[in-house]
Amino acid sequence: MPTLSIQPRARIYHGHVWVYATEIKGRFGEPKPGDVVQLQDARGKPMGSAIYNPQSQISARLFSYRRQDLDLDFFKRRIERALKVRTDAGVDTQLCRVVWSESDGLPGVVVDRYGDHLVLQTLTLAMAMRQELIVQALCEVLAPKSIVQRNEGGVRKAEGLEQIKGVIHGECPAPFVVRHQGSAFHVDVIEGQKTGLYLDQLDNYQHVAALAKGRRVLDCFSNQGGFAQACSLAGASEVTAVDISESATAVAKENAVISGAKVNFIAANCFDFLKHQESSGATYDLIILDPPSFTKTKASVKDAMRGYKEIHLRALKMLQPGGIMATFSCSHHVSTGEFHESISDAAVDARKTLRRVAIYGQRPDHPILATIPETEYLVGYAYEVIASW
Ligand code: SAH
Repeated sequence: MPTLSIQPRARIYHGHVWVYATEIKGRFGEPKPGDVVQLQDARGKPMGSAIYNPQSQISARLFSYRRQDLDLDFFKRRIERALKVRTDAGVDTQLCRVVWSESDGLPGVVVDRYGDHLVLQTLTLAMAMRQELIVQALCEVLAPKSIVQRNEGGVRKAEGLEQIKGVIHGECPAPFVVRHQGSAFHVDVIEGQKTGLYLDQLDNYQHVAALAKGRRVLDCFSNQGGFAQACSLAGASEVTAVDISESATAVAKENAVISGAKVNFIAANCFDFLKHQESSGATYDLIILDPPSFTKTKASVKDAMRGYKEIHLRALKMLQPGGIMATFSCSHHVSTGEFHESISDAAVDARKTLRRVAIYGQRPDHPILATIPETEYLVGYAYEVIASW
């Protein structure tokens, strides 16, 4: 069995599952790209089974503390276990991320479920090589009508894999509508942003909408209008939603017709929109900011911080005492501390006193593991502007 020995002080000794190329001390038994390898510590003590790809900086990813093969039975057990995690957490398993990579003990495998239809990503070489087995396991556990692969993005590139999307089981569904807590969403499993819609935010629509009754709401970076619809349905007096994408705005309008939400959807750049609104003296009672990840790398964190600071500052200037800003960051390179700093800096510059009224996170279908910080990437806060002392 091919084996890697691991340098002392590697992150894997601290509960992480990644082994960087620089953390490998020795290779035995000629491990090949995509192989299952055994890991051992510097003294030769077994540490578990991992998938191997020397082309990636993350050269090995542990998936079991035992000696384990990647066979059909293994995939079925892991999928069943992931499903139970969601059920136990009260997540609607018909509309959720059923498998999320390292968080579910399947590094590089992501499965989203939209009722009868699944969207699969195999982002690591070893899992891509076993995609047919994974499809078989998914069919046996979840009996979907269709499975579509959305094998795109930077991780696939880093692993030396091609970019490919299309149907791999059953017939590709035409875009369809799903309902969640009264709101409507269009799912286009082939062309939609991400794998269709933003499952990680689904619960937060309701949480933020709980603050919306009777308020004039502005939903920035609204995509399909998840926050906007929920706020309108929860009794907001007026809702405006802004997104730069014309197509997302068009879909959001159709969603609101189906759900009965009353929302004024605008296709515009939020930075320009906020600047214009602020300088024209507009005010709101609840402003939601859910921008895309402003940085994909550690190197551009400064740019991301400037982006957050700007939208926070402009939003706060348009809120009177009693007004609320709900703001989210999905940039995993921006720490919670840094994100929070951009809020407090903006508060100082806008001369507003803020009192926290809620903390938000990713839905439990994106489980967070204590020893893998990368599994926590979505954080949000609601802050109320209070009258100055
Ligand atoms: N709140 C949404 C998700 C937002 S994702 C939801 O829960 O579904 C980020 C969105 O920001 C995308 O829809 C993207 O089209 C939009 N976007 C990106 N840059 C933007 C900009 N400068 N101005 C407005 N929208 C932007």
